[in-house]
Amino acid sequence: MTGLTDITARIAAAAAEVDRDPADIELIAVSKVQPLARVEAVLEAGHRRFGENRVQEAQGKWPDLRDRYGEIDLHLIGPLQTNKVRAAMDLFDVIQTLDRNRLAVKIATEAQERGTCPGLYIQVNTGREKQKAGIDPDETDAFVNRCREEYDLPILGLMAIPPADEPATAHFDLLAQLAERNGLSGLSMGMSADFEEAIRYGATAVRVGSAIFGARVPGAATGG
Ligand SMILES: *Cc1c(COP(=O)(O)O)cnc(C)c1O
Repeated sequence: MTGLTDITARIAAAAAEVDRDPADIELIAVSKVQPLARVEAVLEAGHRRFGENRVQEAQGKWPDLRDRYGEIDLHLIGPLQTNKVRAAMDLFDVIQTLDRNRLAVKIATEAQERGTCPGLYIQVNTGREKQKAGIDPDETDAFVNRCREEYDLPILGLMAIPPADEPATAHFDLLAQLAERNGLSGLSMGMSADFEEAIRYGATAVRVGSAIFGARVPGAATGG
């Protein structure tokens, strides 16, 4: 048993409430630090879109799971160091955490060599938190432009992790406005505690971990 069926139903209900098509909302099952058996159960149930926040942990499990289950849409949702860009581009279909110029340059250089690039989301620090990654909201328009025009990067949308101690809705609203005025259709926002709210504000990708898999189990990154 997983929470997958329940979460899928809740996404559909939240979408219906605001007259949205649930097919327009991607469910990213966040499998970081989960026992392998739980991840396999969600794969057995037919789900194929997952999120991981560490390159190394993902390298340890997804090549094998892809061999066994076929095509997987894998999203990086955690911070990316420039020395891990190659490994990340080898493994992930989408990188949601483009959060600084240096990283954009590195990805663009690598993409040019390969002739291919994962889809990218720009992470915005909507709460302007000092310790948190992401582009400042005031600098987002300029950064989106530079990524598109100068670096020719495939920017799918914006992603945010609102401050833990504030209602998320103001942050969802701000992210939606920033995306809209930049003509970006992708909005990655909402986690286990608030994905329904995020859908009301226009989320096109929700990142749900514990509500699908159960509470994370530290040290269970690769074993079951
Ligand atoms: C872990 C994580 C999630 C999922 O969190 P849950 O509360 O378990 O749903 C979503 N987004 C990011 C960026 C994460 O690191």
